[in-house]
Amino acid sequence: MLVLVLNAGSSSLKYQLVDTKTGEAIASGLVERIGIDGILKHEVGINKKLTFEIEMPTHKEAIELVLKTLTIYETKVIDSIDEIDAIGHRVVHGGENFKSSVIITEKVIKQIEELIPLAPLHNSANILGMRICQELIPGKPNVAVFDTAFHQTMPPENYLYAVPHEDYTKFKLRKYGFHGTSHSYVSKEAIKLLGNKKDTKIIVCHLGNGSSLCAVRDGKSLCTTMGLTPLEGLIMGTRCGDIDAGVIPYLMGKKNMDPHQIIDYLNKKSGILGLSGISSDLREVIKAANDGDKRAKTTIKMLCNKIKRFICSYAGLMGGVDAICFTAGIGENSDLIRENACSDLDFMGIVLDKEKNKIRSKENREISAEDSNTKIFVIPTNEELVIAQDTYKLIGKG
Ligand code: AMP
Repeated sequence: MLVLVLNAGSSSLKYQLVDTKTGEAIASGLVERIGIDGILKHEVGINKKLTFEIEMPTHKEAIELVLKTLTIYETKVIDSIDEIDAIGHRVVHGGENFKSSVIITEKVIKQIEELIPLAPLHNSANILGMRICQELIPGKPNVAVFDTAFHQTMPPENYLYAVPHEDYTKFKLRKYGFHGTSHSYVSKEAIKLLGNKKDTKIIVCHLGNGSSLCAVRDGKSLCTTMGLTPLEGLIMGTRCGDIDAGVIPYLMGKKNMDPHQIIDYLNKKSGILGLSGISSDLREVIKAANDGDKRAKTTIKMLCNKIKRFICSYAGLMGGVDAICFTAGIGENSDLIRENACSDLDFMGIVLDKEKNKIRSKENREISAEDSNTKIFVIPTNEELVIAQDTYKLIGKG
């Protein structure tokens, strides 16, 4: 079955055409700057790469171009859009309504619409993607796969905030968590690497531009670092992560900001970018630290300390940890961050093998020392595959 996986953002669109039989991505790409000018970077296999710079005033022109790159031009991989069996959409916020993936109906779209206040930019773009696919690929089923769904197993003691309870019952104020498809995929891979052991205690460290940790007990999310929105938790590319709520009115006063401006500041100007003053791209910050930049060095220390604090907290919550898994751009590629996040944890039985940690590969691999009680794995994430597989499970058999 061929599934077109779509991840529609406010001005971007990621896509992959996945063959669910092999799990292979036949073609993939990224459209950026929708509504500004428009650029599409398309890949077929490892050799064929093509960039289109075409005016894309809206998401509709962007998806039309994606379909053209799949069916015509020299990048063509299928003869017609009829060969696409279904479309799987990544949806950021599923609130408490969605505990697993669902086939998209008018009722589902309405429910996702009702969640827009919780994820204004993301959910609106996701709905736009669904509507356009219904129009451009008529008659083909669409499936929604939610970033929040995997975390719906968290118990109330881990998802409630310590504010009056009616704020939860009236306004649904609670921790939802994100990166669910990644945490689900990586923890399942880890369970396989642990020999399908029962009652596993796993910590997944999804460290990318956005980052979150998840404690996965017996295959289910027990706790995660992101909250009502993706702002909570770790220090990220441009997000501050956990801060004292008192910072907000203080900074609003000092910088003369309104609520919208302060949230934008904490989401887009903070984190690695704000701390280092260099970039949100960790590679550039590491380079500056190697050249002696003090702020860059402190940024890296803060980043790793925060990861370590959550690793210890989650190990305590689960009464131990069988495996710690690193994934996403930083987790898969930065031996420096993995080494520092796991340093000095030998008292807990967590020991990293520094040589194994330095080996670069795109495969699942173990980087723990022989005498480590806890396995440490690097597991490349594959959110698109989870979306394609969920779509197949819901549609394929029909
Ligand atoms: P993602 O959001 O998963 O695509 O991850 C993006 C982040 O991964 C960016 O901050 C990159 O700087 C970071 N990244 C990618 N490769 C490396 C690397 N070799 N070392 C450190 N950070 C990296």
